[in-house]
Amino acid sequence: MKFYMPTKIFSESDCVKKHSKELASLGQRALIVTGRHSSRLNGSLSDVTDALEAENRTWVIFDEIEENPSIETVMKAAAAGLKEKTDFVIGIGGGSPMDASKAIAMMIANPDRDESVLYENIELDHLPVAAVPTTAGTGSEVTPWSILTIHSQRTKKSISHKIFPELALMDSKYLMAMSRNTLVSTAVDTLAHLTESYLVKSADKYSRIFSIEGLRLWGQFKKNLLEDKMTAGDYDTMFEACTMGGIAIAHTGTGFPHALSYMMTYETGASHGVACGYTLGGFVKYYVDQNLKKDVLDALGFETVQDFCRYLEQLIHKPELPDGLWTKDVASIIQNPKRMASYPFEMNEEIMSKYLAE
Ligand code: NAP
Ligand code: ZN
Repeated sequence: MKFYMPTKIFSESDCVKKHSKELASLGQRALIVTGRHSSRLNGSLSDVTDALEAENRTWVIFDEIEENPSIETVMKAAAAGLKEKTDFVIGIGGGSPMDASKAIAMMIANPDRDESVLYENIELDHLPVAAVPTTAGTGSEVTPWSILTIHSQRTKKSISHKIFPELALMDSKYLMAMSRNTLVSTAVDTLAHLTESYLVKSADKYSRIFSIEGLRLWGQFKKNLLEDKMTAGDYDTMFEACTMGGIAIAHTGTGFPHALSYMMTYETGASHGVACGYTLGGFVKYYVDQNLKKDVLDALGFETVQDFCRYLEQLIHKPELPDGLWTKDVASIIQNPKRMASYPFEMNEEIMSKYLAE
């Protein structure tokens, strides 16, 4: 067994303000990495700049991170951070700005290298990263993963380097500004992290503690999520479940629903959570070990796998897949030994194609 979680996590109301000293301890001049709009609207950006000001730190803002961030945007932000002599990075937003901030922190620390270094298997330094999540889905605030869009390959791919944020500052008040689509997509992403991390081959006793507790928490708000009646308490629970999912996948990685989602997102524009949810029901239904499957369903509060699949069907709208996409996507997984090694049982095109019907 192994357990490694170097991120210092604080989660409470007015968290950024209360932990301004921890934020300021990361450097003198921050590169704030965020999306175009939401961090201005939900108050997270002003909380961060107020905290930096209170600690006499300076900052520059890069606010052009798109959903499913591209390598091109990462390089543009890194150039801005280098020019402005920034020495730490703060990612504010959903998984897109948080993932981007990790790759940007690596590129700033290695100014002589081009973007190819992101996918090289070598040890490299990076600037310290702080994460201020404003969605509760990806868990990126506590994972070492950074998933970027590679246009030349028409898909998304995790960079080769593991970069944990030094600090995660979480305040669930930001979540209340999410649209229904973002809420549902991020909730399903967390559900996929928790479920996949419990069922993949690399799961162990420690990682399963986080997966199963996260699933139990997820089950507590599932009815209100479906009925669009989320309370302030539900958002708190969702944040906890999200972080537990992040801690679990930091140890186990993800399984087939995530692997299959990347090409789907690229080709259909489906959000990350919806693309993962597309095959999550099938993944659970055709999972071979009935005891582990029952653990997942019991923790969530579903009596049968059919109930689980029906719930997902009601919650998300599955995208239309263009001709040939499914076959290409499945083939890319079957031919990837690392992906196949995540599954403890036999898998082939025929079995995986059954996922489509769920
Ligand atoms: P996102 O792409 O970061 O954001 C989706 C949308 O939600 C954007 O339009 C964003 O607006 C908006 N938004 C964010 N927070 C908001 C708030 N509090 N109120 C209102 N709107 C808000 O979505 P995400 O699902 O969190 O992240 C998905 C990305 O994370 C994908 O690239 C995925 O591959 C990655 N991911 C990473 C990990 C990991 O372990 N590192 C795990 C799973 C997924 P703005 O653009 O204006 O900010
Ligand atoms: Zn995910």
